[in-house]
Amino acid sequence: MEDLDLLKKEIENYVQEKNIQLLTGVSLNNKGSILFFNDFKQLINIAIEKNIKNLFFDTNIFKEENFEELKEILEEEKITELKLKYSSYFNKISYIQLFFINEGFTFLFSKSSDWFEEYNEDSREETDDNQEEVKCKDCDNLVHSFSVERGEEYCFVCLDKKKKEGEIKIKEMSKILMEDKEFNNCKNEMERKIYLEEKYPDLADNRFFNINILSDRTRALINMKKRDSS
Ligand SMILES: [Zn+2]
Repeated sequence: MEDLDLLKKEIENYVQEKNIQLLTGVSLNNKGSILFFNDFKQLINIAIEKNIKNLFFDTNIFKEENFEELKEILEEEKITELKLKYSSYFNKISYIQLFFINEGFTFLFSKSSDWFEEYNEDSREETDDNQEEVKCKDCDNLVHSFSVERGEEYCFVCLDKKKKEGEIKIKEMSKILMEDKEFNNCKNEMERKIYLEEKYPDLADNRFFNINILSDRTRALINMKKRDSS
């Protein structure tokens, strides 16, 4: 088990060595592209290559007060039981995020402690019993409110439909885009992505429509066309 309090010190020492400053108290915007790193040193070294001087650093402390929030979803008895099980972790770091934003990408190193993940499981499992169901965003089918909390507001049927629609849309769009001069002029994947995000902001926000796949597919079409005409 990794001790995140130790990891925090390691990160702080490493950035000091590299002359980089840590800024605290910033939360992540989930839109846009996030690149994940398993090794914080790798992330810091990339920041250095990109001449970035400030990194955002977020450490979350596990507190007894956290259990207050559970009162709405758990029985008092269960909360007491959980408190007891996790009391040795009070005031320890539950997760760490280290990140910077560059050219529209978020470069992120993120780590949760094993016990915090277990705690999340434990406090969630129980909520399944007092599960409420709500209507799917698109039809009358019921969806667990727990899924909705996680951002999944469609039933299985509609979810499937949405995914298929997204795939069809990618096929249509790639045919339009292959004739798009500006897209053709983009020099690399980053530029193509930024171009697509700016030109089609509604698509960039749509999780059923994968902008990376669209870009790959369009390039494949362009290459096939080139081969045909040569
Ligand atoms: Zn539905």
